[in-house]
Amino acid sequence: MPADPPRIRVGQGFDVHPFADDPARPLVLGGVTFPGAVGLAGHSDADVIAHAVTDALLGAAGLGDIGQHFPDTDPALAGADSIVLLGRAVAAVREAGWVPQNVDCTVVLDAPKLAPHRDAVHERLSTAVGAPVTVKGKRPEGLGALGRSEGVACIAVALVVEAT
Ligand code: MG
Repeated sequence: MPADPPRIRVGQGFDVHPFADDPARPLVLGGVTFPGAVGLAGHSDADVIAHAVTDALLGAAGLGDIGQHFPDTDPALAGADSIVLLGRAVAAVREAGWVPQNVDCTVVLDAPKLAPHRDAVHERLSTAVGAPVTVKGKRPEGLGALGRSEGVACIAVALVVEAT
């Protein structure tokens, strides 16, 4: 008799952060600092891509959300490197018996341009997840708060397979 195929699960993540008022705050997207760009506001480094990827993976494994694991009221997480938090979430996913297969993201932003940093972002995120992570940029075409360059949003979808 053929063996049962391994179980698979998908998870979705979404995050949005406004740009900070402080022009000296660095912009970190997908673990990569974008030189010369103003950063996003948030308790951690406000890495909107890493946060969406984290939520997608936690959701796929049925482990709740990023706020439960890394509360924004925790003083220890002030200015936290979100790639480190993503790594901790991946460890929790694996501990729960799931292995990430890939994550795909859409980042909605008007500026700065994602393309010059895309390879570095892919490498940083894929290393943290232990599986391919791809990121696509999408311009909001002037619509709403994102179109006025007031912030950046990211949507992520993750696939995990049961560990054998
Ligand atoms: Mg966030």
